[in-house]
Amino acid sequence: MQSWNYEIQAIKTGDVVDRADNTDSRGYTVTIDHGYQNGKRVFARYLHFDSAPLVAKFSTVSQYQRIGWMGSTGDSTGKHLHIDFNTYSSPYPNDNRYDPMTLLTQPHVNEITDYWEKNSGYKYSK
Ligand SMILES: [Zn+2]
Repeated sequence: MQSWNYEIQAIKTGDVVDRADNTDSRGYTVTIDHGYQNGKRVFARYLHFDSAPLVAKFSTVSQYQRIGWMGSTGDSTGKHLHIDFNTYSSPYPNDNRYDPMTLLTQPHVNEITDYWEKNSGYKYSK
């Protein structure tokens, strides 16, 4: 088993609109309304937390605030950070996906691509 433990940070300021316990395939989950981004209201769902999320439903979070710890709860076979982005909060249809890369700052993108290049051998074009 991997022993590392990464904190999950909110990628932007926002409002916690949903927070779920480890009861279904998503595991411990937090959904944050990150407001309007490039003309679309974006909801980010962070999944599979290791333990109960550190933020309450209806609370406001600031950018980079720690909201929990990365885990593998729900239908997950290994620890990973799973975020999906949608322009609709509920029932969260799959046809309203939003490209997350436009929301990440360049240092984050570099950090992510460096990590995956190091661990997968795959080379990204930057
Ligand atoms: Zn996942």
